[in-house]
Amino acid sequence: MEIKRGVAVSPGVAIGPAWVLDTEEVRIGERFIATGTYPEEIERFDRAVQAAANEARQIQKTVSERLGEQYGAIFGAHAALIEDPNLRQEVAAQIRDHSFTAEYALSRVIRRRAKILAGLNDRILADRQSDLFDIEKRLLRQLVGQRQAQLQKLSEAAILLAHDLAPSETAQLDRQHVLAFATEAGGRTSHTAIVANALGIPAVVGLGPFLTDVSGGDLVIVDGNRGLLILDPDAETLERYRQAQAAQAGHERELIELRDLPAITRDGVRILLLGNIEFPEEAAQILERGADGVGLYRTEFLYLGRKEDPTEQEHFQAYLKVLRQLPGKPIVIRTLDIGADKFRSAVEPPAQERNPFLGVRSLRLCLHNKSLFRVQLRAILRASAFGDVRIMFPMVSTLAELREAKLLLHDVMDELNEEQVPFNPQIPVGTMIEVPSAALIADLLAKEVNFFSIGTNDLIQYVLAADRTNENVAYLYNASDPAVLRLIEQVVRAAERHGIPVNVCGEMGAEPMYAFVLIGLGLRQLSTPPSAIPELKRLIRSITVEEARRAAQAALQMESAQDITNYLRDQIRRILPEALAV
Ligand code: PEP
Ligand code: MG
Repeated sequence: MEIKRGVAVSPGVAIGPAWVLDTEEVRIGERFIATGTYPEEIERFDRAVQAAANEARQIQKTVSERLGEQYGAIFGAHAALIEDPNLRQEVAAQIRDHSFTAEYALSRVIRRRAKILAGLNDRILADRQSDLFDIEKRLLRQLVGQRQAQLQKLSEAAILLAHDLAPSETAQLDRQHVLAFATEAGGRTSHTAIVANALGIPAVVGLGPFLTDVSGGDLVIVDGNRGLLILDPDAETLERYRQAQAAQAGHERELIELRDLPAITRDGVRILLLGNIEFPEEAAQILERGADGVGLYRTEFLYLGRKEDPTEQEHFQAYLKVLRQLPGKPIVIRTLDIGADKFRSAVEPPAQERNPFLGVRSLRLCLHNKSLFRVQLRAILRASAFGDVRIMFPMVSTLAELREAKLLLHDVMDELNEEQVPFNPQIPVGTMIEVPSAALIADLLAKEVNFFSIGTNDLIQYVLAADRTNENVAYLYNASDPAVLRLIEQVVRAAERHGIPVNVCGEMGAEPMYAFVLIGLGLRQLSTPPSAIPELKRLIRSITVEEARRAAQAALQMESAQDITNYLRDQIRRILPEALAV
């Protein structure tokens, strides 16, 4: 058994066979063949060996002609490795003795050999590992090629393991069959993580290298609560996790009972709990989890997996779909936040960027491409005639940008007026505060909008200069950092002074210990993934605003993220012992 630690990004526990996806192809384990069919399976492997060796020799020839024989020889060596009789013998034994499929048997043998090489403490031999994986890929491509039809779609429930997943890939995962996923790369608030949460798929990211230790079909456990991936679990661990799964289901049923109760603190203060959604289908979750409305609708997901931009009518229909499911509830529609890690292929920024998180992303992209922006603004305004729609601009960094966006909005209003198309001329307009400059000029921005929403996912990354998707700087990316708390406090005070409501719509608000400190800092509304809402209700109904205020003041005096985390954890342990136990 091996336990890997990563970042927990979507809660829940899953137990199942691994489905390993790497950047080039899918390696899947149907792990066993029908008993007695091993001679055919060994033959299948032999055919793959033949084809892969031929392919390697062909490459040897081409490369020798183009670059010289010494380069071609690399592929000659690959052909020899593929045809190595010892390899064939070991794989055949695995197929015969354990009824393994050829893919699974090969994967096991290669991994065993790679581990031996890695353990030799010899750089040159250790480098040979990559040759081993290369020949494994060649052989698997041959084997898998023979079963392409079966690979089109995952037909059995499995746990997806990959180096990394793009948000668009994640959004297209088949929920029926993907029990959970775990990736080597990625950070806490990457959009991949957000989508996993939206889909309700348990997930752990930022695990560091592990793919070489696992084969498709191996039994694995993903613990999305603690951020663990367990390879080859022993019987005791397996039993413990089976029990945890059952307990989790019970805990969720209990939380759902809180759905219809209001989120009021013990000293009588009502906290508005809103939900974040990415897809119109999630609106149902808002009701199921007992949220007061939608605090953040990430509309860029309309662009997912498309070559053409959505039309005004498509935008409009998506918004109506949400409104119809949530009559009377506020819906904050955030304008497009494309760029950085989101959907680069659908709408490209002007040029390849060296640092896309600091580039033409989000509102900047919309202001560079006003015709694209107008399409969405028209659709939002049209939807505002049908319910409590509010509009919110992301990634505002200067007052000038906010003014430019508002000017365009008013221009579109004039256009709709001329066309006699109905809309709400009093539509509330808000700005996200997710860039440090916006937090620092919150007093200026507050005069020009109806509400603020603090996007802590980005605010944390920009304040600490730590990429939210990069597991190597995850130790810096911390909501407990004193700099983060101070900035949030500053924004809340500015909003209070100007009498506008302020919300937090980053993932920070979804964690009970941070929700507690945020309420203590003065927040009276939070917007989180719908799945977090029942637990937050329980928290709110267990605290007083006064104790939260005292805790926030104490946290603000502390010098390090570690001290603040420890302190807040202790507070939550006292208030809600079961929140940390699950
Ligand atoms: C944020 O940055 O906190 C936020 C809510 O927006 P997104 O996660 O979509 O960038
Ligand atoms: Mg953001």
